[in-house]
Amino acid sequence: MDTYLCPSYRPEPGARILAVETEAGVLAYLDEAVELDEEAARRLNEAEEARKHLRLVGPCLESKCGQWAQDRCGVVGKVQDQLVAASRLTRLPPCKIRSSCRWFSQSGRTACEVCAEVRTEIAG
Ligand code: SF4
Repeated sequence: MDTYLCPSYRPEPGARILAVETEAGVLAYLDEAVELDEEAARRLNEAEEARKHLRLVGPCLESKCGQWAQDRCGVVGKVQDQLVAASRLTRLPPCKIRSSCRWFSQSGRTACEVCAEVRTEIAG
């Protein structure tokens, strides 16, 4: 079984920072993911506003996740539906997890087009 990564992960120890929102409101994908330790995860859990400006990545929990349905992640479909007006990217974001991203594996470049618009974690 392939191990996929969830690009909408919760602030838990071991989760890594995938991207941060810049002052210009653009999501910047990090070259090297920064891993959260227990203290950083605790602080982020208490800082709802700060969480809105970054994206975390962690292992896809598949059937152990509340968003898992019909053998796939339900989040990316919801995001696509909510962001029907998402701009079409001429180039995919320079994201380092594409080869193991659950969303990309399910929806291809469409996932990446809406991914850059997602700010808060909505995974279950
Ligand atoms: S959907 Fe695309 S841009 Fe977003 S985390 Fe997955 S591979 Fe990266």
